Amino acid sequence: MAEIGEAANDDILLLGGGHAHVEVIRRLGQLGLGARITLVSPGRHAPYSGMLPGYIAGAYSFDDFHIDLAALCARFGVTFRETSANHIDPSRRLVRFADQSDITYRLLSIDIGSTPSLPNGITGGIAVKPIASFTDRLARLDRLVADGQLLRLAVVGQGLAGVEVAFALRQRFAGRGVEIALVGRAGEPVRERSALACRLVLREMRAAGIAHHSGFDVVELRDGELVSRDGRRLAVDEVVWTTSSGPQGFLRQSGLLLDAGGFIRVDESLRSLSHPDVFAAGDVASLPDPRPKAGVFAVRQGPVLAENIHRTLIGKALVDYRPQRSWLVLISLPKGRAIADKWGMAVSGRWVARWKDRIDRRFMQRYSSEKADEA
Ligand SMILES: Cc1cc2nc3c(=O)[nH]c(=O)nc-3n(C[C@H](O)[C@H](O)[C@H](O)COP(=O)(O)OP(=O)(O)OC[C@H]3O[C@@H](n4cnc5c(N)ncnc54)[C@H](O)[C@@H]3O)c2cc1C
Repeated sequence: MAEIGEAANDDILLLGGGHAHVEVIRRLGQLGLGARITLVSPGRHAPYSGMLPGYIAGAYSFDDFHIDLAALCARFGVTFRETSANHIDPSRRLVRFADQSDITYRLLSIDIGSTPSLPNGITGGIAVKPIASFTDRLARLDRLVADGQLLRLAVVGQGLAGVEVAFALRQRFAGRGVEIALVGRAGEPVRERSALACRLVLREMRAAGIAHHSGFDVVELRDGELVSRDGRRLAVDEVVWTTSSGPQGFLRQSGLLLDAGGFIRVDESLRSLSHPDVFAAGDVASLPDPRPKAGVFAVRQGPVLAENIHRTLIGKALVDYRPQRSWLVLISLPKGRAIADKWGMAVSGRWVARWKDRIDRRFMQRYSSEKADEA
């Protein structure tokens, strides 16, 4: 491990314990390359977002939805460092960290996710991202509810994350006198999914008693009120932001080619368009054929990223990542139910939630210490 301010000459440097990198560690580790890899992430526990709503609703424990990165790395002989990158200099092949240390690399791969982007100038409320620390912020909400200080809670953002978080909070605070509202600028929730999924979500929200404030483009949060562009006001005790995701600011100074939104531009092989010894995957990557920022794509990119890192080391041609045109979305509902949406069709029920649980647990088992070798 590098001393403060000293550079270590690591072969493969993985930034971020995101959904793609955990698979890179597993695959390259199985090839016996672990000793050449260093993973850097700010915390040893990496959350799996698909199970966060279940955690909020009380169905999963902290360990159920977190991958222990230190244990995963130890299993495959990978060096794990618990800090975060705050500067990348690809011309010197060097990354600088919050603890003031540097690491130089032969190959760099970046899977650091995205950060919440709140409406301009707003600082109040709590954000779901970074998910790794949301458990602490949730504990704060618990205390406010217990003290009777939280009676009106607004979830801002009508995408999948917002809808799932609203349902999960409904379940968590059921019978505690907490009113939950879903707020957003769109006319309806989960607009990116099928019309049927949207209707099912609206029906479930009515059944759960979640108020929906559509066309509410939040411009201000002041004196316990959310204010919309058209002048509407909503009294709130607390706000949870699930609004769209932005890139980490330090990428702007890196010299890596970025898209207009500040995400790293990569080709079909997930390689940086400006620096061939840099790869990026997951939310932080901007693909030639873009898809929404969702974990399902980061997961699918993992095997391709591992393959291409390996191919680069042995001088072979890279393979392409081909994102799916249609993908399954499973939306958790209260009381052990869920909605499945794909190909413009949507269904809901308990069996969907059981199916989702099996998929999610299988994913987690792949990276748990007992099962990592076998999967
Ligand atoms: C409530 C909620 C529910 C969601 N549900 C779903 C779902 O059901 N299905 C779905 O497909 N998507 C879902 N998403 C979206 C999903 O969370 C993201 O798209 C996904 O996590 C992106 O994966 P990633 O690998 O890019 O990054 P992440 O999983 O965010 O991982 C990034 C990693 O990098 C680390 N890191 C961050 N900054 C640094 C740094 N500077 N240096 C080093 N390491 C760093 C982080 O600690 C983390 O370990 C949901 C999102 C939310 C908020």
